[in-house]
Amino acid sequence: MTKLLILGGTTEASALAAWLVDRPEFNALLSFAGTTRTPRPPPIPYRVGGFGGPQGLANFLRNGGYQVMIDATHPFAAQMKRNAAEAARLAGIDLLAIHRPAWHAVPGDKWHHVPDMAHAAQALGATPRRILLTIGQKDLAAFKAAPWHHYIVRSVDPPDTDSLPPHAEIIAARGPFLLADELALLRGSHVSALVTKNSGGTATMAKLEAARICGVEVVMIDRPEPQIGVATVQDPAQAKAWLRAHAGTDRGL
Ligand code: NAP
Repeated sequence: MTKLLILGGTTEASALAAWLVDRPEFNALLSFAGTTRTPRPPPIPYRVGGFGGPQGLANFLRNGGYQVMIDATHPFAAQMKRNAAEAARLAGIDLLAIHRPAWHAVPGDKWHHVPDMAHAAQALGATPRRILLTIGQKDLAAFKAAPWHHYIVRSVDPPDTDSLPPHAEIIAARGPFLLADELALLRGSHVSALVTKNSGGTATMAKLEAARICGVEVVMIDRPEPQIGVATVQDPAQAKAWLRAHAGTDRGL
């Protein structure tokens, strides 16, 4: 039996967890950071909370007798990706990262690329506008630097009020989101720009199509650099193949 730790908080981690339910050849544990107040309980054993940096994670891996780790964290979870690479090296175990492809603009898109949140706030300009923020809860304070806009903040949990710019209204919602609903939101709220991380994937992609249809500007926060030197696949299907090969159970299932 292969003992496996999955670093999660993403649709990829959830897909792997669902697949592992009927795979007795793996003894898997799914790890959440604990940032979402109401996570959906997965169908396999799980734990919640940080490990205490790379050394803490390496100790966790060693003490638990883990042989394999899958980094299925979000493309913007840069700290955890660094920690995972370092911890796998320290513990001497195999690491596979799932790195979902980024989104790319197509004709009709009005994207403005920026490297981080501070530049995103600047890119909104000096004229008051109605802005949809779909960036989660962690980095909202950056938009206090542009307090003249009206912000519509969509996140899974309602954010702390301290982190909010003035003139913010909250929509607590969890994806996936449908195109019809995204169109209704952009039109109904008279949104002139939306801010998003380049997360990739399909669960939150409909907002980009809706923005194209409505002529809404998209301020796109580009991804942090991926880890170099870590074995990487693009999706859960490839990760399953890697795991089957790793466990020596590749029967083409
Ligand atoms: P981060 O900045 O890269 O990591 C900050 C710290 O959170 C890490 O040093 C680690 O603490 C802890 N941590 C992160 N992921 C963890 C996991 N899966 N299990 C246990 N501890 C974890 O991470 P983040 O960007 O805040 O993301 C936190 C979680 O939300 C991740 O699970 C990520 O996949 C998910 N998520 C993030 C985004 C995003 O836009 N960043 C979007 C959707 C989902 P220690 O150093 O103490 O171990």
